[in-house]
Amino acid sequence: MLTHNTLGVPCEVADRVIFENDDDVKRALATDDRLLILGGCSNVVLPECLNQRVGQIAMRGISAIEVGDDVVVTAAAGESWHGLVRYTLGKGWAGLENLALIPGQVGAAPIQNIGAYGVELARRTEAVRVFDRTRAIERVLSPEECEFSYRSSVFRSHPDRYVVLDLSLRLTCSSQPVLEYPDVQTELSRLGWSQPTPSQVAEVIIRIRRRKLPDYRTWGNVGSFFKNPVVTQAAAEALKQAHPKLVMHAHGAAVKLAAAQLIDLCGWKGRREGAVSVWRRQPLVLVNLGGASARDFLRLGDTIRRSVAERFQVSLEMEPTVVSANGA
Ligand SMILES: Cc1cc2nc3c(=O)[nH]c(=O)nc-3n(C[C@H](O)[C@H](O)[C@H](O)COP(=O)(O)OP(=O)(O)OC[C@H]3O[C@@H](n4cnc5c(N)ncnc54)[C@H](O)[C@@H]3O)c2cc1C
Repeated sequence: MLTHNTLGVPCEVADRVIFENDDDVKRALATDDRLLILGGCSNVVLPECLNQRVGQIAMRGISAIEVGDDVVVTAAAGESWHGLVRYTLGKGWAGLENLALIPGQVGAAPIQNIGAYGVELARRTEAVRVFDRTRAIERVLSPEECEFSYRSSVFRSHPDRYVVLDLSLRLTCSSQPVLEYPDVQTELSRLGWSQPTPSQVAEVIIRIRRRKLPDYRTWGNVGSFFKNPVVTQAAAEALKQAHPKLVMHAHGAAVKLAAAQLIDLCGWKGRREGAVSVWRRQPLVLVNLGGASARDFLRLGDTIRRSVAERFQVSLEMEPTVVSANGA
């Protein structure tokens, strides 16, 4: 049985079970604690042959309650993320507009604390209901317990412990748009929208993403293949001396660099190795030109990492989860 993934690599799965409700999850985990949980497969690099049983999340349902001036929306893990964004905007609730058009499911959104255009999921999260595999109980985790950070969370640091069952988000009817990103500003002024509604902000984000990112249905990809590296102040200062044009942003007490710029400066933009290429409009994205395997992606990813480390002494970390043949 072949499984779909946005990288477009073939992956044969020995056994797959579909979870339509929370009880399905609990029952399956009671008999197989090694089960690999997958959502929309837009942030995984899967092996050619997966010898581990897969649990495919498919729980559906969205509900909402008013809390003062806010609304708390709860969506089941198997809902489409972009579908949820559209649903909330349709109701006039603001908060998710900057996260429009991110592929995948609601349940995977907290795993790497999805983020785009100045907003991370953590900022809107009220609670995450999970099944704790270690203790075999259901729990509701607060945002603090989720330990959200840049493209990470407690779910990523303990990958085999939690299954996300649903996600609650605190949204608002009064819009406080986040419009700082230069691309967003440019698109807004092009459209003449000086005070955009949340739906208009989403429209702007969708236009930018469609222009910059390859459509995974044509060019298999997982979005960013690398995270932006975070370095110490001292390392950033040394880099600035040697490479004055490097883009740097404050990140707490540390400094975040732009991985796309580092890769570009190493000459990778648009370059191809076998059936995998570095996307010419966004060098963070590696695309399948047709017939690429997971190994081809990992090989090119590794070559890029080594070239960035050699030139800048900066270590790039991969963003997607790499799954081995035994499901680890
Ligand atoms: C074109 C493109 C653009 C993208 N843009 C962005 C972006 O702007 N920002 C961003 O942050 N990401 C982006 N991504 C990455 C990806 O869309 C997100 O990480 C998304 O949340 C993954 O969802 P999924 O359902 O496909 O997860 P999967 O790929 O199926 O799984 C990802 C990980 O989460 C685990 N997991 C999935 N569901 C659950 C669950 N219910 N409980 C416990 N663990 C689970 C899996 O085991 C795996 O480790 C992009 C991807 C693509 C292809």
